[in-house]
Amino acid sequence: MDCDRCGREAVMHAAYSGAHLCDDHLRESVEKRVRRRIRKDDLLPADASPETPQTWVVGLSGGKDSVVLTHILEETFGRDPRVELVALSIHEGIEGYRDESLDACRALTTDRDLRHEVVSYADELGTRMDDVVETDPEDMAACAYCGVFRRDLLEAYAEAFDADKLLMGHNLDDEAQTALMNFFEGDLQQIAKHFDASLGPFDRRRENDHFVPRAKPLRDVPEKEVALYAYLAELPAHVTECPHASEAYRGEIRNLLLELEENHPGTRHSIMAGYEELAELAAQRYRNGGDGSDLGDCDRCGSTTSGRICQKCRLVESIEAV
Ligand code: SF4
Repeated sequence: MDCDRCGREAVMHAAYSGAHLCDDHLRESVEKRVRRRIRKDDLLPADASPETPQTWVVGLSGGKDSVVLTHILEETFGRDPRVELVALSIHEGIEGYRDESLDACRALTTDRDLRHEVVSYADELGTRMDDVVETDPEDMAACAYCGVFRRDLLEAYAEAFDADKLLMGHNLDDEAQTALMNFFEGDLQQIAKHFDASLGPFDRRRENDHFVPRAKPLRDVPEKEVALYAYLAELPAHVTECPHASEAYRGEIRNLLLELEENHPGTRHSIMAGYEELAELAAQRYRNGGDGSDLGDCDRCGSTTSGRICQKCRLVESIEAV
């Protein structure tokens, strides 16, 4: 097949749009979608200036999604005095996995002279994921601990770096999977939190001064196209799967979505279009933390929480108690 735009050999056919694209036009198309999402979500306020630059902290794991996002952001804003980019990596303490992906992060950021910060569970929480999996005091999947810890550290450090936005590399497949999981679990409060935390133009969100606002500029791009972009652009992405990966339910949803997309191209896009509206409606219903409760400071670490101590500190306490 030939590229619809230039007639060169196509490297990809997107069934949801009917497009055949060559390597150059696929890369151009991915970059356009990311930039369009940044504009649509108003990530760069009109009054941003070289005197009052925006600080954007980018969560950089070294996987294809965060590497592609960091690369496109740097290409777009690396020489723009209105934006300061900071790449933030979290070291979970997983032998044979995270050190390798941090090498990919360093290769990317050093090459582009980009500020890169690394924060570890060992330094911040006094534990490593390899040890958490061994003890498992709450009898939970590894990712359930790890997700809470990572989210907490990303938020805490984004705040410490005075970030205006925290940018994450979630792609369209990730977002559609999360949407379906929340929907199937019938969890409207979680859907409300999703809107407050990461969906929709910032000016449509409720006023929320508790958290650094999150954004996901890659959320219009399917996973396969992100992977192809990383390969074609020869980016230093780390592709090995984490040895503790344990999200079995997400795997089921992933397979279901792939099958639906195959038989009904465009399914992921339509799920997200409806989900964003649903999330906004849910956010109007549930205030504050998304659960109607008042937010305060965690007794132990001071971070924002709706209980006496935050979820991260509760898990750390139970690990310490073993
Ligand atoms: Fe953590 Fe799970 Fe990701 Fe491994 S797969 S890094 S345990 S969230």
